[in-house]
Amino acid sequence: MKYDYLLVGAGLFSATLAVLAREAGKRCLVVEKRGHIAGNIYTEEVEGIRIHKYGAHIFHTDSKDCWDFVNRFAEFNRYTNSPVAYIDGKLYNLPFNMNTFHQIWEDVLTPEQAQKRIAEQAAEMAGKTPANLEEQAISLVGRDIYELLIKGYTEKQWGRSCTELSADIIKRLPLRFIYDNNYFNDRYQGIPLGGYTKLVERMLAGTEVRLNCDYLQNRAELDALADKVIYTGTIDSFYDYCYGELEYRSLRFETERLPLQNAQGVAVINYTAADVPYTRSIEHKLFEPEDKEAFESACTYITKEYPADWKRGDEPYYPVNNFSNISLYNKYKELAKQEKRVIFGGRLGMYRYFDMDDTILAAMELFQEIIT
Ligand code: FAD
Ligand code: UDP
Repeated sequence: MKYDYLLVGAGLFSATLAVLAREAGKRCLVVEKRGHIAGNIYTEEVEGIRIHKYGAHIFHTDSKDCWDFVNRFAEFNRYTNSPVAYIDGKLYNLPFNMNTFHQIWEDVLTPEQAQKRIAEQAAEMAGKTPANLEEQAISLVGRDIYELLIKGYTEKQWGRSCTELSADIIKRLPLRFIYDNNYFNDRYQGIPLGGYTKLVERMLAGTEVRLNCDYLQNRAELDALADKVIYTGTIDSFYDYCYGELEYRSLRFETERLPLQNAQGVAVINYTAADVPYTRSIEHKLFEPEDKEAFESACTYITKEYPADWKRGDEPYYPVNNFSNISLYNKYKELAKQEKRVIFGGRLGMYRYFDMDDTILAAMELFQEIIT
């Protein structure tokens, strides 16, 4: 065989494997159906500004191994994600912290007062184990915050009622009783200087990549080239949806150029009202404010993110982790276990809500398994 591994997809999972395989003296071929590398972390430079084409990406991790790994391929800035939420003409700090509590309840100034107010509001859940996202949110932050900052956003994002969603989704968000607007709790955070495409380009340097090449349409020919296939596309598509479709959530992005130096004053605004059709609006240049030329230029790019139902042919951005999808995924996983040459990886192949660091760590773990 010409290659040890055929890596399907040129996203972060494949790029991590390509690095590890290359360093272990293995030969890889990467095939990507899109016309560019980097998967969903792709950034495109327009007028000196890196546009996050598939939504805002902020790198954050608690793993030193992962942080050291990415720093081999890029220098990171000190961007700290501190989005604000907009509703009914007012702005609130996120994640839920003392600033938010004081903005919502003016008389709340201290952590003790905030804890007391939340406990009073969460009392309606006393004695109950939260069975869905609504109940989980009310027990964590009380009804006022749930109705102002969670309900509308979440129902738009996921296209269903908070009472039908898993409590786990909301556990991603930090809740703190200090005045601190950092959206993440991780030790390391930042944006790679010059954008994510450059980072992935460096990871793939020395590995052959074929763009505009859909594995599923060239399967026999590509299979013949490598000993093993690592597939990072959707697992249900690999099996031609033989058990039916897994559900995904899709997104539509609308980008506009504004003749302003600085339009939002913050990189990310969340729109939490149910009657605003988009969830987020991002101002790309503000992810890299240290790039003086881009930052000071007289134009800026803003992208609004509209959640959308997914149907075949659309981009599958988020797996929908509810009971029926997980049991369907488990059926595909049983098929996958019988494969001798194919391994499924990444957010789509493993049907998991992976952040970038989870993706890298999962690829590292897989490589340890296959190399030994
Ligand atoms: P992908 O990036 O999806 O790569 C898979 C690649 O495979 C794609 O390029 C696809 O075109 C290709 N492919 C699929 N099928 C085939 C086929 N049949 N033949 C050839 N190629 C194929 N993570 C964070 O840590 N911080 C964030 O702020 C953050 N924000 C996010 C915002 C949004 C809107 C989304 C959707 C995700 C976000 N993430 C974030 C998660 C992050 O995008 C993922 O962790 C990461 O991109 C997963 O990499 P991957 O290689 O598994 O998948
Ligand atoms: N969320 C919310 N209001 C917000 C931001 C987030 O209710 O202003 C909820 C929403 O349910 C979302 C979840 O918290 O799906 C996780 O948010 P995160 O920002 O991690 O979303 P992602 O980065 O996955 O889009």
